[in-house]
Amino acid sequence: MNNINRINDITRPVSVRLEDWGEVERRLTHEELSAQSGRCMECGTPFCHGIGCPLGNVIPEINAAVKKDQWQLAWKILSSTSCFPEFTSRVCPAPCENACTRNIDCESVMIRQLEKAVVETAFERGYAEIAKRAESTGKKVAVIGSGPAGLAMAQLLNSLGHSATVFEKNDKAGGLMRYGIPDFKMDKDIIDRRLELMKLSGVKFRCGTEIGKDVSAAYLRRTFDAVVVAVGTTLARDLNVPGRTFKNIHFALDYLSSQNRAVSGECKNTGISAEGKDVVIIGGGDTGSDCVGTALRQKAKSVVQMDIMPEPPEKRSYSTPWPDWPYQLKTSSSHNEGGTRLWSSMIKSFTGVNGAVSGVETTSLEWEISAEGKPLRFRETEGSAKTVKADLVLLAMGFAGVSPTGPAEELELEITGRGVLPGAPERGIFACGDARTGQSLVVKAIADSRLIASKVHDYLIRGA
Ligand SMILES: Cc1cc2nc3c(=O)[nH]c(=O)nc-3n(C[C@H](O)[C@H](O)[C@H](O)COP(=O)(O)OP(=O)(O)OC[C@H]3O[C@@H](n4cnc5c(N)ncnc54)[C@H](O)[C@@H]3O)c2cc1C
Ligand code: SF4
Repeated sequence: MNNINRINDITRPVSVRLEDWGEVERRLTHEELSAQSGRCMECGTPFCHGIGCPLGNVIPEINAAVKKDQWQLAWKILSSTSCFPEFTSRVCPAPCENACTRNIDCESVMIRQLEKAVVETAFERGYAEIAKRAESTGKKVAVIGSGPAGLAMAQLLNSLGHSATVFEKNDKAGGLMRYGIPDFKMDKDIIDRRLELMKLSGVKFRCGTEIGKDVSAAYLRRTFDAVVVAVGTTLARDLNVPGRTFKNIHFALDYLSSQNRAVSGECKNTGISAEGKDVVIIGGGDTGSDCVGTALRQKAKSVVQMDIMPEPPEKRSYSTPWPDWPYQLKTSSSHNEGGTRLWSSMIKSFTGVNGAVSGVETTSLEWEISAEGKPLRFRETEGSAKTVKADLVLLAMGFAGVSPTGPAEELELEITGRGVLPGAPERGIFACGDARTGQSLVVKAIADSRLIASKVHDYLIRGA
């Protein structure tokens, strides 16, 4: 084994990045890429692509090509399994790296960074071309929703010779990648660059068109041979405790999307701003962490992120042995920028002054942890009640499922107990991405689309 280590800090200095909305990560140099891809070459049995990457990216082969400076070959292998590596190489939590064989006793290979280098080199050198299209089948498909799932679906079906039209209610395509994920994680030019290629390849976009309002789903059924519902999970989880109706308590997505729209110039001002405010973010996940980074850039006075769960262990818990996705503390680039994290905190109520929120009342929890390290049950710690000052509260507790109105209602689609849509393939109506699987990840939304696209293709060619 060589003695080259993983490079753990590849972010721009905190003091610099807090002054702008640019991506926090820098790109690796040529020398760094060569050394890091070399770490991959020492692996005996790779688990990264089979168990780790939901797309099955052929990681060892890609990295071998990078090691030999064969960038065009690396791109060819990468794009054979992945429609949009430019998105995943920026925002994927990289389950491949958790399953990396070097992660057993050492640090994983920098798979996501190597992926980013391959895709950026491909765009710079012109290897990323307009997707080739098979001979036209004469079949037309409507895709509702332009998140990663809808985009992948349209791209795949278009390349198979079907005519794909994407309907999107927002003014621009991209779904949560454009209106949820902050620019400091992914610059929106990255989405625009891909949309241009898709348009040139023949995919049609009708943005600013809400299905169920501007255009009926019945019209889509009459006009298209198949309909794919890729609307994501829009129902945000609420916190119905006393004081919830005070002003300045918002869903995280409303907050993040208003900032993203301001950065892109879609609207002049940030609708909801944390500037000069004591901000409390409820929810310890990625969306909460995105709110931390956004509030710090908006110059919040203080930022506190609360989670009902206990603080996970620093190292992988025994409950999730390698190569499983580990239960362990995740510290994002936003957490490294500032703010405080409060664990085992249960929200009891909100306090208010003149109709606006002024504080969050909480109690601490004592968690019972299993022998393997998994949190099991909790009880409230007596006498631990306290009030945390807040004049802006952001609810980042995830999403409950698909909206029962709109396309789901009009197309008479069943919504399961988990709030997702299985679709009705026998009627030529398919669902994919978060709408079908529940709230997930960009990489999983794309992987799900690849799976469902083959079923749509079969339906279009052979019928139900
Ligand atoms: C704040 C935030 C941060 C996240 N960060 C990450 C991350 O770092 N990494 C990661 O992998 N994942 C992240 N995720 C999750 C990821 O964004 C989603 O899993 C992914 O975008 C799901 O893709 P999708 O295409 O299924 O749905 P979405 O991206 O939700 O797209 C659905 C689209 O359908 C449109 N739509 C809905 N109804 C209609 C209608 N009636 N008519 C027309 N259009 C409609 C919506 O406007 C939207 O554009 C994050 C999510 C959030 C909220
Ligand atoms: S898409 Fe995600 S899991 Fe797959 S190789 Fe890239 S970073 Fe790893």
